[in-house]
Amino acid sequence: MEKVILPFGDPVLRKTAEPVTVLDNETLQLLSDLADTLYAAEGRAGLAAPQVGASKRLIVMDCGSGLIELINPEIVEADGEQTDAEACLSFPGYSGIVKRAYHVKVKTLNRQGQWCLIEGDDMLARCFQHEIDHLNGILFIDRIEGDNLYENASGQKVSVEDAVRMSRRENLSE
Ligand code: ZN
Repeated sequence: MEKVILPFGDPVLRKTAEPVTVLDNETLQLLSDLADTLYAAEGRAGLAAPQVGASKRLIVMDCGSGLIELINPEIVEADGEQTDAEACLSFPGYSGIVKRAYHVKVKTLNRQGQWCLIEGDDMLARCFQHEIDHLNGILFIDRIEGDNLYENASGQKVSVEDAVRMSRRENLSE
């Protein structure tokens, strides 16, 4: 079932999410709901449970090579560097330049409760880092390089403070 994606300003996005301790039906259903939400619109690469209001360490991603589900994920290795544009479903309408590791190795539980290692480069590595940040209450606007945050519609640079203010106003007027 598709869930509503919470916009920036919702306090759950700033909380440290709780580890999953039991892989019960409710948890697995939430993973499925996250996947339904990810695939409900074009161009969505990743979604973390806090973005739908559940403060749990669960993530779904698809960077073009199929669904990846992460349960209690941890980055265990990070190398290299990449600097590129990044955006967030909880911060619609903006994108910014963020420096990330080029390659990461992630340790995660699967649905069967087994620990696995998944590696990724480039866009996939960026997505792992962005989504795992969500589990720690960190948003991409916290990591913008210099003043390189843009409003997509106008292509204009905006300050993080202005973007936060505008995004709050849009949320309030809903
Ligand atoms: Zn995000």
